[in-house]
Amino acid sequence: MSAQRTNGVIVAIDGPSGAGKSSITKLLAKRLGYLHIDTGAMFRAVALMAQRGGIACDDDARLTELCRGIDIEFEREGEAYRVLVNGGDVSREIRTEEVGLLTSCISARKPVRDALLQMQRKMGVKGGVILEGRDIGTVVFPDAEVKFFLTASAEERGRRRYLELVARGEKVTLEETIEKVVCRDRQDESREHAPLKRAEDAVPVDSTAMTIDEVLSFMEKTVKERVAA
Ligand code: C5P
Repeated sequence: MSAQRTNGVIVAIDGPSGAGKSSITKLLAKRLGYLHIDTGAMFRAVALMAQRGGIACDDDARLTELCRGIDIEFEREGEAYRVLVNGGDVSREIRTEEVGLLTSCISARKPVRDALLQMQRKMGVKGGVILEGRDIGTVVFPDAEVKFFLTASAEERGRRRYLELVARGEKVTLEETIEKVVCRDRQDESREHAPLKRAEDAVPVDSTAMTIDEVLSFMEKTVKERVAA
């Protein structure tokens, strides 16, 4: 393990939207006593601020400027966390479908990726962290001690996302939710910079027919085995 990892190992969990990364990462972090870093929330925060500032998705000059002045923090409250941008709570606003789709465009831009890459490395370098995202095991921490690639079928991921949105009071249909999930994945997989893909040394986990508990137990066992080895 690298000498910088004074707090423990780094666990990377990548995968497409709706695969269960957030729920699993939160629970796994609690079991292991690790810090949970939701990198998607960071990209969402940038997208929200670009939207508020009327910055176009491909305006790299203004995106660079935006990222230079942005301060993203996670404020922990027990197991939950709030996402703060320049001191303001954006936890709810960043979770809408609209911001999700915009995030997928903005996260493809190099200045945004470069800025967040630096922030994420700084947050995780000491270890004792689980980072969830799309490029953690391939780009952010290619030397992470444990890597997972969590997937599920597009239908199942769309269904989970649909239930989440309905519970939040959003008016959506199952079909359109599946379509959007597939569209977002396609954008994330086909972009030039840090596309969504499985790191060669990531453990694949297909959660389509697994309960959260089953996924969690498998991952916890894998992390403990790797750490002990
Ligand atoms: O994980 P979540 O759905 O919140 O991520 C929102 C979007 O942020 C993704 O669709 C992807 O475009 C982008 N993202 C990324 N790299 C990461 C995490 C998220 O490009 N490490």
